[in-house]
Amino acid sequence: MSLRYPTPDAVNAASFGGVVTRVNARSAVEVVICGRRAASLWALPKGTPDPGEGPSETALREVREETGLEVRVAGEVGDINYSYIRPEDGLRVDKTVRFFLMRATGGDTAAHDHEYDFVEWVEVTEALRRLTYPNEARIVEAAVAMAAQQTDERR
Ligand code: ATP
Repeated sequence: MSLRYPTPDAVNAASFGGVVTRVNARSAVEVVICGRRAASLWALPKGTPDPGEGPSETALREVREETGLEVRVAGEVGDINYSYIRPEDGLRVDKTVRFFLMRATGGDTAAHDHEYDFVEWVEVTEALRRLTYPNEARIVEAAVAMAAQQTDERR
């Protein structure tokens, strides 16, 4: 008889990311999206915590690295959840990604790292059209609504 340890059928994972917004010369809101040529993917910048890092710290670091922009947090937008099968071991990963509303304070998208092939400011309608995952598109809509409310409150 062979003894086998019970193996979990799923593991949890968490990532943190950002919706970076600005208003362009035509008064339209733009957001930053990231593209990968091989996977024909457009996504929001995000990533996993380093040891000891808190949620907003992770989001700031990942967004800075992946977009080349200097950013600050302007609010917490919300979470998305999805599951996928990890190719290395066949385990199901149940993942939560929390997104923060962010504003760019400097930097340049030309300085993005190699995580993505393209990093672009695009108007919201274009972002919603391009983003690969509908749950990220919903996050962009919620972030833009939050940004508009903050603008109204400052008036
Ligand atoms: P991170 O950027 O958090 O380090 P990662 O690059 O390791 O993450 P994910 O981006 O979570 O991994 O992608 C892992 C799998 O989940 C891929 O198969 C991808 O297609 C799928 N996936 C990624 N984002 C979403 C999403 N928003 N909704 C549904 N499935 C997604």
